Amino acid sequence: MTKLNKTIVVTGASSGIGQGIAVAFGQLGANVLINYHSDEEGAKETLKQINDGGGTGIIHQANVGIEEEVISMFDRAKEEFGGFDVLINNAGIQQDNTFSKMSLEEWTTVIDTNLTGQFLCAREAIRHFEGKPDTGKVKGNVIFMSSVHDIIPWAGHINYAASKGGILMLMKSLALEVAPQKIRVNAISPGAIATDINEEVWSDETKKKELLKLIPYQRIGEAKDVAKAAIWLASDDSDYVIGTTIYVDGGMTLYPGFVDNG
Ligand code: NDP
Repeated sequence: MTKLNKTIVVTGASSGIGQGIAVAFGQLGANVLINYHSDEEGAKETLKQINDGGGTGIIHQANVGIEEEVISMFDRAKEEFGGFDVLINNAGIQQDNTFSKMSLEEWTTVIDTNLTGQFLCAREAIRHFEGKPDTGKVKGNVIFMSSVHDIIPWAGHINYAASKGGILMLMKSLALEVAPQKIRVNAISPGAIATDINEEVWSDETKKKELLKLIPYQRIGEAKDVAKAAIWLASDDSDYVIGTTIYVDGGMTLYPGFVDNG
């Protein structure tokens, strides 16, 4: 793989998909701002893996749902690296409940992190990209981390599904608005990727078997499956790809209940 001479900000890079993406970019020679919220040790592990692979990075603690903290984080990226080229808008959480039992706090915590957090980070990235001189080439790249639940309804997880459905239209509308300025905006929607967010499913054999019924490709995904799509979307190889969602899901969005077993 060719080296990526880019600077990249990855939110939620202390574990799971964000960590996998940060490490994959770092190993390709990118400078990486590793954002975390509560797991400092995880962020240090991400930096170690980047350094071991020959890359460079800095760690920055911030809550993506708090405006001042997001602004400071992007100021830090500009101070340390003189600017940045790619935002991986990845941080996200689940707080599950059935609809009638869902508290306002469960609703707002998920929306604040997953949707408002991605809005705040994308806005700082777009402000920075808009300030770059016009050269006819791409000025910057925003990649939203959505989910198959931006189109698959999910009972018992309505706050999460609403946040991801919101990201779909946030991403498309933003892509339309900034494409004339040579700023590229796209999304990745993972299916089931084994990380901390869903450990109680993939670590339990019965639940894992049930989950595999929803995945035509018959394996649970890994962070590196998502990282490969992110690297392509951030590279100039995908220069003509605008406002698209790549579903990295082993076929989960193909209505697996309709499979013909003969
Ligand atoms: P993890 O729980 O492993 O990682 C979540 C990351 O988000 C952590 O680094 C966490 O930081 C960070 N985070 C949480 N809240 C905040 C906050 N307020 N501010 C900044 N960072 C925060 O989950 P995944 O890696 O699985 O999830 C990453 C993204 O991928 C999410 O957007 C999720 O919705 C999406 N996704 C995941 C799927 C999966 O199957 N795993 C499927 C579809 C989408 P810290 O630990 O430091 O607090």
